[in-house]
Amino acid sequence: MSLHHFTPSSGRPIDELLAAYAAGSLSPPLHGLVAAHLAIKPDNRGFVAAMEELCGRAVQEATPAPVRDRDSKLAAIFADEPAVAERPSLPPCAVLPPPLQHLLGKGLSDVRWKTLLPGIRECPLREFGEVDAKLFSIRPGRVMPSHTHEGTEVTLVLRGGFSDPTGHYRRGDIAIADGEIDHHPRADEDEECICFAVLDAPLRLTGPVGRLFNRFMGH
Ligand code: ZN
Repeated sequence: MSLHHFTPSSGRPIDELLAAYAAGSLSPPLHGLVAAHLAIKPDNRGFVAAMEELCGRAVQEATPAPVRDRDSKLAAIFADEPAVAERPSLPPCAVLPPPLQHLLGKGLSDVRWKTLLPGIRECPLREFGEVDAKLFSIRPGRVMPSHTHEGTEVTLVLRGGFSDPTGHYRRGDIAIADGEIDHHPRADEDEECICFAVLDAPLRLTGPVGRLFNRFMGH
């Protein structure tokens, strides 16, 4: 598992993502995405804690170094991101949980949106080099252009929800898509959908809208 590329191989991709998070092997944006997921939804905290313990035990067995304190490791799961410089704390936000606010260094009201297509806005995070990390805002009921991926796209829903052939995702859910999936996610009708998406390779868009979108994106 390299630092910047998350490539699920077998089993439930979400479990591999969580395991990589527990092992500390994810890139900062993906690490922040998983921390935000855990902050919103408790479902996977137990799994991550168990993985953290396993990783800790592996470290212990491999080296006679001092045992790392389990409580502080558990606390670290929900704490600030180690790879991101210390930033002043921001007021609580109903959409962006603390790990994402820290990653972005701003609250939702300070996000500078750029319109991609009618009803679809994005805010790219440019500080993570080769890792493509973006916030998306999609109008209720709007459909994203059809596309597939050269790498793995991990998306965390922060507000509202969306559907694609792999399922229906609501706030706190993580959707994982790779080159096998050609999809055009549709935002739920009830409210604006805000997502945080991390890709380890550029999107490969398909279809006529995709070609237009690619030109728009400068791909
Ligand atoms: Zn996608």
